[in-house]
Amino acid sequence: MSDVEIPDDHPRRESLVTRHRIEAGVEKGITSRQGLIAQGRGEAFDYLLGERTIASADEAERAAAAALLLARHPVISVNGNVAALAPDETVALAETVDADVEVNLFNRTDGRMAAIATHLREHGAASVKGLTADGRIPGISHERAKVDADGIGDADVVVVPLEDGDRAEALSAMGKTEIVIDLNPMSRSARSATIPIVDNVVRALPNVTRHARQLRDASREELEAVVAAFDPERALDAAERAIRGCGPETEDDRPPENA
Ligand code: ATP
Repeated sequence: MSDVEIPDDHPRRESLVTRHRIEAGVEKGITSRQGLIAQGRGEAFDYLLGERTIASADEAERAAAAALLLARHPVISVNGNVAALAPDETVALAETVDADVEVNLFNRTDGRMAAIATHLREHGAASVKGLTADGRIPGISHERAKVDADGIGDADVVVVPLEDGDRAEALSAMGKTEIVIDLNPMSRSARSATIPIVDNVVRALPNVTRHARQLRDASREELEAVVAAFDPERALDAAERAIRGCGPETEDDRPPENA
């Protein structure tokens, strides 16, 4: 089954295309089998969110774009799920905000690291970090702590889509501005983020890119004001309310006009 074999008018087309990409990622040695489980968990939350970008997520995506434009050295961390689901979108965001792309795996194997780096290059990534692994995230056990010293090690702002809770907390303890994309607003990753984006990575990455293009000419003061106006607690609460279906849609639950 390829993307084109799913009828355009299928009501859950996007979700099926996404699922197929993860399956293909496992077959290509890019995505781990645990990645299938993470995908299932994500799908359940996305289903409850209505498979749309809620307004509070769009605000987070705008704040993320501003933080990336302000950054000295932004890095986008890529794991096997992100590589399979959104390679073009990852490269587009990296180009827009001048960020490095670094492969960073929970279950690190040389084969999977190399397969993901090749896959990202095939999708236009100019350079891919993560293979040197000469830096460490303090407080994390050996294999999972590996990063590039001149990549995530040096970054002041990191985008970590679908990161596991431990490493998200450790990166945040290193004082980095952490932008987490995670459909579960209750996950430790989302809760440790400076800017949690509760949205599917396939929607979130292009949304951050769109905001970054819109904010490209903004002054540092304007960008700082966008970041300062964002309240992570409020965004997480709004997402949890949307998922739990608590009462009528609030301002925060409504999709933005331009999503
Ligand atoms: P915690 O952060 O609480 O430790 P976890 O490490 O147990 O969570 P995993 O089971 O590793 O989390 O799952 C990864 C997370 O990624 C889940 O919270 C899931 O909702 C989220 N996720 C999966 N697919 C997507 C996607 N396409 N877009 C955004 N988030 C996703």
